Amino acid sequence: MSDSQRLGEFDLIRRFFVRDTCTGSARRDGYGGDDPASGVALGQGDDCALLTPTPGWQLAVSVDTSLADVHFPADAPPEAIGHRALAVNLSDLAAMGASPRWYVLALTLPDIDTDWLEGFARGLHRLADHSGIRLVGGDVTRGSLSITITVHGEVPAQTALRRDGAGLDELIVVTGPVGGAHGGLRAWQSGERDDTDPLLHAYLWPSPALNAGEALRGLATSAIDVSDGVVADLAHICRASGVGARIDVEALPLYPGLAERFDEQTARQAALTGGDDYVLLCTLPEHALARAEAHLAAHDCTLTVIGRTVAEPGIHGVPTEHVGWQHFDVEPDDRSATGATS
Ligand SMILES: [Mg+2]
Repeated sequence: MSDSQRLGEFDLIRRFFVRDTCTGSARRDGYGGDDPASGVALGQGDDCALLTPTPGWQLAVSVDTSLADVHFPADAPPEAIGHRALAVNLSDLAAMGASPRWYVLALTLPDIDTDWLEGFARGLHRLADHSGIRLVGGDVTRGSLSITITVHGEVPAQTALRRDGAGLDELIVVTGPVGGAHGGLRAWQSGERDDTDPLLHAYLWPSPALNAGEALRGLATSAIDVSDGVVADLAHICRASGVGARIDVEALPLYPGLAERFDEQTARQAALTGGDDYVLLCTLPEHALARAEAHLAAHDCTLTVIGRTVAEPGIHGVPTEHVGWQHFDVEPDDRSATGATS
């Protein structure tokens, strides 16, 4: 008898995804239990979870679907697939300055492979525990491998970091090095599989900048996580805020190992347009820089100034050859908004 015949949906959820509140291990009764400290009045096992938001805070909610061989390689380690699916969602909370609270998971599987599921659940639960977010519901269906996660975070009212708050003549900063994930993707596509390699690690095991997002509340005037690439994501901020931007390409912090693996132009392109880096890209007035740096230093995170906002619309200072290979995941109207110039 195959695993898929033995394990029904509820057995599968109970075995891999329902966890004891205190021990983190699987619960046999199929109920996630309650845990007032985490705001979970009723966890998995009923028709809905019941959650208690913190008074005076706003809920930040985001959903993201990861498709096999579109957003991640289907043959990546299952631990990494679980980690990555949650990490990209957590990164959206980080970009708003929100603190992670609860998430729900809709998983579509081509077949029930218990070894794969064990790995997937391990990667997912490890990052969830590390980030302080609780799985409070889910659904499993049969089909092509697809992972949809909805995250719920909280942020004190009126302090969320948004895309539309950038002012003129402000600093543009990133909270970490960029280009690593794209370098890792290229390494994966060329057959490399050692995920201890820094670039492959950056691609398969991204780290959402949750601490940085929380630390920048009240200091950054706008923020976004770098999922589409610095140029494309900066264009989102510029359009929402009604400003332009000038980037100093030489100031971009390249991911360790990127410059050694590729020629300089490829490395700069990866840093500008590669995407999937999940650091934060923010604007802030110059007088707030020292305070922001001090807040972030407590989390071993450094800010790098990569440019300034300007009145003229578009992104300036990016040599055309540095935005050469792509923009394939940028909406058509973003191409004009980026307005790359030499
Ligand atoms: Mg985002």
